[in-house]
Amino acid sequence: MSIAENIQHIETELRGTAARLVVVTKTHLVAKLQEAYDAGARLFGENKVQEMVAKQPELPADIEWHLIGHLQTNKVKQLAPFVHTIQSIDSLKLLLEIEKRAAQHDRVINGLLQFHIADEETKTGLSFAEAEEILQSEEFQQFRHVRLTGVMGVATFTNDTAQLRREFQTLRGYFEELRNRFFAEADYFREISMGMSADYPLAIEEGSTLVRVGSAIFGARG
Ligand SMILES: *Cc1c(COP(=O)(O)O)cnc(C)c1O
Repeated sequence: MSIAENIQHIETELRGTAARLVVVTKTHLVAKLQEAYDAGARLFGENKVQEMVAKQPELPADIEWHLIGHLQTNKVKQLAPFVHTIQSIDSLKLLLEIEKRAAQHDRVINGLLQFHIADEETKTGLSFAEAEEILQSEEFQQFRHVRLTGVMGVATFTNDTAQLRREFQTLRGYFEELRNRFFAEADYFREISMGMSADYPLAIEEGSTLVRVGSAIFGARG
């Protein structure tokens, strides 16, 4: 099936749910991204700063760019002029840098706290206690140019649907507790980014608001 058909198929599945589609465009050429755009996609996810910075000027300006991979503080300034959401926030230090760089451009950049939910050592992210520490910090209260809009997680690479469900439920539980304790007045704190090509239908059932789908749209990455 074509890129457009794949996107339409997923959009049909998302209809009537809380979830929106982030098309994960990493490794793909700009022409393919343009095809996705022409099929109606507007939220694009890249995992590398270099790649996002190279592609962004080649594509329409109304794309919402989401960074979904680990971000080093020294690279924030390259994204600051245009990035919409940084889904991979994993430290206060990173938030401080985003605040500083977004202020220089007089922008507000959205961020999601990335949690470790997989039972694999290699998958990064915060523990719940680390997130609490960030949200309780004095610095956090001062932020004006970085706004936390929710949480993100990458589940274990497994076919075990019971395990996937548990991991998605864990992330949703973190979201709800943080919302109640730190964002009760903040209607912008509403995103739960979970679900990829192999597991997005399950993630939607567990309350995902952003599914990050690449290979189910573009085919396997080379
Ligand atoms: C690559 C990637 C995705 C998309 O993976 P697919 O299996 O191709 O859908 C989603 N989230 C993150 C964090 C990724 O790095």
